[in-house]
Amino acid sequence: MMKTIALVAHDHKKPDLIEWASKHRDLLKDHNLVATGTTGGLLSEKVGLDIHRYKSGPLGGDQQIGALIAEQKLDLLVFFWDPMNPAPHDPDVKALLRLCSVWNVPVACNLSTASLLVTSPLFEKEHQSRVLPEY
Ligand code: PGA
Repeated sequence: MMKTIALVAHDHKKPDLIEWASKHRDLLKDHNLVATGTTGGLLSEKVGLDIHRYKSGPLGGDQQIGALIAEQKLDLLVFFWDPMNPAPHDPDVKALLRLCSVWNVPVACNLSTASLLVTSPLFEKEHQSRVLPEY
């Protein structure tokens, strides 16, 4: 089943994402891929993936991906945010992570989790996006 997968990495984490995407290229290429601007450019140039690029993260790209979540159009987010450096768009970073919790969207913030997600038997199943029931 084709999924829509968003890929985002902060500058110091871009090498990790390129390494991960290269390793899982055969799997990723069969899905609808989207990314923030610079991340998407690198993935297309260095890994050869066909990927829709939104704006760069600090210019609103994180929020564009957040909008996909709110519209229930995103199945999975790989988001390698940088825990060691402040980001000018920190509120957007938090907002994106928050929407993943709101809508029960699987989100991987490091290499280990990203690999676990795409190799899980659940990856082949349809993602059930939903708002937490108590709300
Ligand atoms: P970038 O944005 O891919 O344009 O670098 C990533 C981010 O900072 O969220």
